[in-house]
Amino acid sequence: MSVSVRDALRMAGLYVLLSILWLALSELVLHGMTEDPLALAVGRQINVVLWVLLSAALIFVSRARLLDFIGIGARLRSEDRERLRMAAAVFDSTLEGVLVTDRNGLIVHVNRAFMRITGYQQEEVIGQRPSKFKSGRHGAPFYQQIYAALAEQGEWSGEIWNRRKSGEIYPQWQTICAIRDDSGELSHYVAVFSDISVIKHTEQELAYLVHHDPLTGLPNRLLFNDRAMQAMAAAQANKRGCALLLLDLDHFQSINDGLGHTIGDQLLKLVGERLREVLGNGVTLARLGGDEFGVLAESCQQVGQAGKLAQSIIERLKEPFCFEGNRLFISASIGISLFPNDALSAEQLLRNADSALFKAKSNGRACYALYTEELTAHAQQRVETAGELRRALEQQELRVFFQPVHDLFTARMIGVEALVRWQHPVRGLVPPGEFIPIAERTGMIAEIDAWVLCQACRQMMRWQAEGRQLAFVAVNISSRLFSQRDLYRQVANALHDTGLDPSLLELEVTESAVMEDPEVALEQLHRLRELGVTLAIDDFGTGYSSLLRLKRMPVQKLKIDQGFVAGLPHDEDDIAIVRVIIALARSMGMQVHAEGVEQAEQARFLLEQQCQLGQGYWFGRPVPAAELHWG
Ligand code: C2E
Ligand code: MG
Ligand code: MG
Repeated sequence: MSVSVRDALRMAGLYVLLSILWLALSELVLHGMTEDPLALAVGRQINVVLWVLLSAALIFVSRARLLDFIGIGARLRSEDRERLRMAAAVFDSTLEGVLVTDRNGLIVHVNRAFMRITGYQQEEVIGQRPSKFKSGRHGAPFYQQIYAALAEQGEWSGEIWNRRKSGEIYPQWQTICAIRDDSGELSHYVAVFSDISVIKHTEQELAYLVHHDPLTGLPNRLLFNDRAMQAMAAAQANKRGCALLLLDLDHFQSINDGLGHTIGDQLLKLVGERLREVLGNGVTLARLGGDEFGVLAESCQQVGQAGKLAQSIIERLKEPFCFEGNRLFISASIGISLFPNDALSAEQLLRNADSALFKAKSNGRACYALYTEELTAHAQQRVETAGELRRALEQQELRVFFQPVHDLFTARMIGVEALVRWQHPVRGLVPPGEFIPIAERTGMIAEIDAWVLCQACRQMMRWQAEGRQLAFVAVNISSRLFSQRDLYRQVANALHDTGLDPSLLELEVTESAVMEDPEVALEQLHRLRELGVTLAIDDFGTGYSSLLRLKRMPVQKLKIDQGFVAGLPHDEDDIAIVRVIIALARSMGMQVHAEGVEQAEQARFLLEQQCQLGQGYWFGRPVPAAELHWG
């Protein structure tokens, strides 16, 4: 409470007025009571005493106001002012931003820190609502919870993301208080906040350090485990698989010992970079410690894929590492474990990969091993085959063998089928069943088939020149190529380049290739037929042909699959099927050709059934052109 000068003057005036009134009234009353001068004098003295008493009572009653006005009040007033000044100074110099709104939520005051943090000037925000600073990062429930806390507890504090004038959003730690006046009525809200973006950043940096290897910048074991668990959960949900590869550098210790840890560290860094290059995005690569790296390939569903990935890593790491004038050679061993085949938990997957790694190390290093042993050999062979097949093509390791086809009616060789072989430097003669599927998957089949086609045509030209009487040379066409428009051009080129009469060339396509997309097949067959070549359906009986469709195909020959010939002449089912096929082919004006004839009685049975052509070990195995037996 403080008394202004005006208040004091008003009070003094009132007092003087009341005193005059008192004295005037008492004088009137005294004169009305007596004219005796002595009595009047006594009366006046009593009056003065009464006035003094009343004045004293009055002064006592309003002593606080008087004290306030004189001296003490002045001192108290100056303390108040001081406090206010200090509050204002604190308010303005505090590092925390302060924002005051009235009870309606309109901003009435902000401090300097507020302006520094938010980038807004005072005049830009006074009269506005704090919602102006919303970042859009919190939903309505978040703000409702703040209002509720203010209404119930009068206070709220927590982390809140707001937007600076620049548009940048940033985190604040904010405390909001509801201020009530003496009567308990809500008068203001005061919000005090600090910018915690730096703290957040530090937190992020800390989190990064906790989860990454400082040398290579790669995720560390902790993060790798975490990712492995996530990947397995995702794989399980999507019914997919994933592969975990554990890689360890071979003899890394000798580099550390021989060249020092600085070189060792640099090499590890370069290994990390190279691995990142090989693996690309979508694969988690981590340094698990020392010279051990982990790879998590979520797209690796199959053993073959994982093996291929491991092999590509091994190959890339074999290339020298050049730095500071040094050329260092290093190799790596890899252990592979697959989810869900080998393990159902991340921990188990890592353990399995570790024992596979041990296997790879004991197998002589610089190789990979799968947790499941049988798979290792299988996958390794497939991966190696794919790599070697390219070399085989370049180094002309492929061969074309020819198998005689006999005319059962005349008992003479009438044609040959060209069958590819791979003369492997270590594995010996590799049959097509072992590499054709791989060539089909890797796309190398186009080159192989084109090469076989040319070789076959060229050989046929040679036989022609030697006067050998052969009605045809049959060449197999992969189902992969059959669906490609390019096939027509390839065949035309082969005929053109070798000069072979098209009527001497027969193309074999499997029944399943034709039936994969009968419309495309129909068009393709017509185009090939235009070239003047003969068309045969290979492995007939295995592809569930629609007979109606078959009728529309411009095909001249059906080759009964050797699976049906094998049971002849005793198996009732085989007999029935072979009979039906022969009857069907004849009714459609096609030639019938039986494959896999191994015994004389099979040949005899086929002849009885009016099957014209036979091929099989009984007549002759596939052999190089020079070894073909001319009867
Ligand atoms: P295919 O076209 O049905 O060839 C017949 C297969 O049966 C050949 O196996 C042949 O050696 C084998 N065979 C012949 N007579 C007998 C017999 O009496 N008994 C038994 N058990 N088998 C016999 P091969 O040479 O291993 O070829 C397998 C398959 O590989 C071929 O089946 C063909 O689909 C494919 N193929 C072969 N050469 C090529 C080629 O140059 N290109 C493409 N795309 N595929 C080829
Ligand atoms: Mg064939
Ligand atoms: Mg066949």
